[in-house]
Amino acid sequence: MKLLLAEDDAMLADALTTQLGGAGFEVEHAPNGAVADYLLHKQRFDIAVLDIGLPMLDGLSVLKHVRQSQPALPVLLLTARDALDDRVAGLQAGADDYVTKPFDFPELLARLQALLRRSQPSSVSALFGRLLLDHASHRALVAGVPLELSGREWTLLELLVSQRDKVVTKEQITQTWNADGGEVGGGNSIEVYIHRLRRKLEDAGLAIRTVRGLGYLMEATSP
Ligand code: CA
Repeated sequence: MKLLLAEDDAMLADALTTQLGGAGFEVEHAPNGAVADYLLHKQRFDIAVLDIGLPMLDGLSVLKHVRQSQPALPVLLLTARDALDDRVAGLQAGADDYVTKPFDFPELLARLQALLRRSQPSSVSALFGRLLLDHASHRALVAGVPLELSGREWTLLELLVSQRDKVVTKEQITQTWNADGGEVGGGNSIEVYIHRLRRKLEDAGLAIRTVRGLGYLMEATSP
C-alpha cells in the first residue's frame, strides 16, 4: 500500500513514516504542499494523508486539485484541534476522513485501514488471495488467467470480496443483484451461484464459507 504523507512538522513526519512503515505502508513524505501536489500527479498512491497547514500550498488546495484527477483516492486530513472550519471545509473539498492533532498512532492507523476497506470496491483493481478484480473492466483474474463470469456471478464475487471476512446475507446478495437490474433470485439460485463461484475460484487461494442461518463469508485460505 503506497501512502503519501504531506506533513511539514519534521519530527511528526519522521515518527509517522516509521510507524506507517512498520504497519506495512510504503510511505512517500512531502514536506510541503507543492511537493505533495507534484508527487500526487507523478505517482500512483493508494491513500493520502494531508496536513491542512502546509507551506507553499495548503492541504485543502492539494486536496481540491487531486480530487479533479483522482476522485476515488482515499484522503485523510490532519487538522488542528478546534479548527472546526477546517474540518468542514475539508469534508466539503472531498476529504474522506480527518484526524485531529494531537492523535495516537493506533487511531490514525484504524482510520486509514477503514478508508482502504471502503475504497476497495471503487478502486481500479484489488488483489485478494490470487484473485485480481479489475473493477473498471469487470474482469476477474486468478493468477493472471481471466475467469468466465456471468453478470450475476461478477456482482456476487465483487460483493463477497468487498465484504471479505464478514458475513454477507442472502438478503444483501438479492438486494445487490436487484440494484444491478437483474431478475429477482430466490434462495436456491443464490446457492447455485455460490456453488459455481466456488468451482471457479478453486485455485484462487480463497474460500466461500457457508455460515449456517446467516449467509456466506469469503476469506483467504493461503497468503
Ligand atoms: Ca502543519
